[in-house]
Amino acid sequence: MSMISCLPVSDPDCSGLDRARAMIAAWQLDKAWIGGEWRGADSREEIVVINPATGKKIGAVPFLRTSETRRAIDAADAAFAGWAGLLASERAGFLKRWRDLMIDHQEDLACLITAEQGKPIDQARREVVGAIAYAEWYGEEARRAYGQTMPANQPDRRVIVQKHPVGVVAAITPWNFPLTMVVRKCAPALAAGCTVIVKPAEDTPLSALAVAKLAEMAGFPKGVFNVVTGQPGPIGEALTGDVRVRMLSFTGSTAIGKRLMVQCAETVKKLSMELGGNAPFIVFDDADIDAAVAGAMISKYRNAGQTCVCANRILVQDGVYDAFVAKFIAASLAQKTGDGFDAQTDIGPLINARAISKVERLITDAVAHGGVLHTASNIPDQGFFIAPTVITGLSTDAACFNEELFAPVAPIYRFATEADAIHLANHVKTGLSSYIYSRDIGRIHRVADALDVGVVGINDGTTSHEGAPFGGVKESGQGREGGHWGLEEYLEVKYLNIAL
Ligand code: NAP
Repeated sequence: MSMISCLPVSDPDCSGLDRARAMIAAWQLDKAWIGGEWRGADSREEIVVINPATGKKIGAVPFLRTSETRRAIDAADAAFAGWAGLLASERAGFLKRWRDLMIDHQEDLACLITAEQGKPIDQARREVVGAIAYAEWYGEEARRAYGQTMPANQPDRRVIVQKHPVGVVAAITPWNFPLTMVVRKCAPALAAGCTVIVKPAEDTPLSALAVAKLAEMAGFPKGVFNVVTGQPGPIGEALTGDVRVRMLSFTGSTAIGKRLMVQCAETVKKLSMELGGNAPFIVFDDADIDAAVAGAMISKYRNAGQTCVCANRILVQDGVYDAFVAKFIAASLAQKTGDGFDAQTDIGPLINARAISKVERLITDAVAHGGVLHTASNIPDQGFFIAPTVITGLSTDAACFNEELFAPVAPIYRFATEADAIHLANHVKTGLSSYIYSRDIGRIHRVADALDVGVVGINDGTTSHEGAPFGGVKESGQGREGGHWGLEEYLEVKYLNIAL
C-alpha cells in the first residue's frame, strides 16, 4: 500500500480557471483509470471537455468503447475477492485516507467542478464538502454492516443472517454534480466490499478522474476502483451485459434509466436507480411569504436550475399568489448570470447547447399555453447561458408541467384548496423531491403524508444530508443513497440455518 503523498498544487493566488487548468495538467487527467493504470483509448480517440461558461476546451479524455470496458470489468472482478476479504476496519482506513485527500485538495476540486460544469464557485465548494461528507460517513459506516440472529423454528437449530457485498458494481453518473454523484455511489459500495467501475458523464469526466487520482494516492488496491470515459452506448452495453457485473447504480434521466433497466434484466442485476424529478414547491396561504420566496430562490436557481430536486412547479395558493409572485419576480430579476468563477455570479451557464434548445422549446410551449414571461436581461454573449425567467399565467397543460426544465426558469401555478395542491403535486409520473411552505402543523403533516415522493422539504428549500435516505418513487427510481440505507444497497443478505 502506498503512503499518502501530495501532488503538485497550483498557486493559491491564481484564478480559479488557471488553477483548474494547472490541476488537469499536474494530475494528468487525460487518461482513464483501469486496473490501477492510467490508460488511453485503443483507438487513441478523445472526448473534448468544454467549459460551458466560455464554450472553450479545458481538457480531453479517452473515448473508450467495449474492449476497454471489458478490461475494467476483468480488473474489478479480479480485485473483488481480495477487497471483500479485508476487515471492514481496513476498508474504512482506505476511505478515510481518500476523504483526507479530498480535504487536502478541496479548492482544486471546487475549481475543477466550476471549470467543467459551470456552477458558481461557492456552490462547487459546497459540492466538495458534500462529497467529503459521504466519504466520511461511509468510512464510518463500513464497520456497521451488521447481521442478525433470529429465533429458530426448532429447538436444535440456530439462524444467523449475514450481509455480503453484492460484487462488481457499475456506477453511471450524471454531469450536474460531477464529484458528489461519484462519491455518493462509490463510498458505500467500497465500504460494503464491492469493487466499482464508474462511467461519468461525457460533459464532466474530469472530476471523476480526479477522484480516481485521489484513490490512487490513498492506496486502493489495483482494480478496486476504475473509471472509464467514453461512448455511453457501448460502455453501458458492456457493463449491463456482463454477468460478472452484479449491480448497476445509475443516476440520470428516467429515459436512460428505463433503457438500462431493460438491459440489466437479461442478467438480473441488482439496481439502484436515481432518476429524474419534477418537484412541486407548494406555498400555502398561511406560509411566511418571505421565507417561501427565499426557499424558492434556492430551490429553483441552485446550479442554474440543473438539479433533480429543483422546484420545477411552483404552486401558490390564491390568498398569497400576488404577494409571492411580485416578490419572487423581483428577486429573480436581480440574479446575476455569469461565469461561475466570478464571485458576483448567482447563476452559471447551462451544461451545453442541447440544454439551451430544450428549455427554449419548453418556454415557447409555455407561452402557447398562456404563459407570460418575466425575464432578466444582461446575460453573457458567449457560453451556454439562459436568463432567469419566471412564467405566470400558464396552464397545467404546458409541457413543462410534466417535464424537467433543468434551467433557471420558474413556472408558477395558482391553486385554491389543499386538495387541489395535493392533486396537482401528484399528477405527474415522477416522485422525487417536494417542498411545503405552511405554518399549520396539521396541514404540513396531512400534505407530507399525501405527497407521492421520496423527500419533503418543509419550510426549507434545501434537503441534502449525507445521513438521510435520498431517492424517489414512481418513475424517479428505486433504492436510496445516504445513511445506512445507502450501504444496504450494496449488500446482499444470506441466512445460515444451523443444526446443532
Ligand atoms: P442522462 O442523459 O440520463 O445521463 C446520465 C448518465 O448516463 C451519463 O453518464 C450518460 O453518459 C449516461 N448514458 C447516456 N446514455 C447511456 C446509455 N445508452 N448507456 C449507458 N449510459 C448512458 O442524464 P443527465 O442529463 O446526465 O443528468 C440529468 C438527469 O439526471 C435529470 O433527469 C436529473 O433529474 C437526473 N438526476 C437525478 C438525481 C437523483 O438523485 N435522482 C441526481 C442528479 C441528476 P453521457 O453523458 O456520456 O451521455
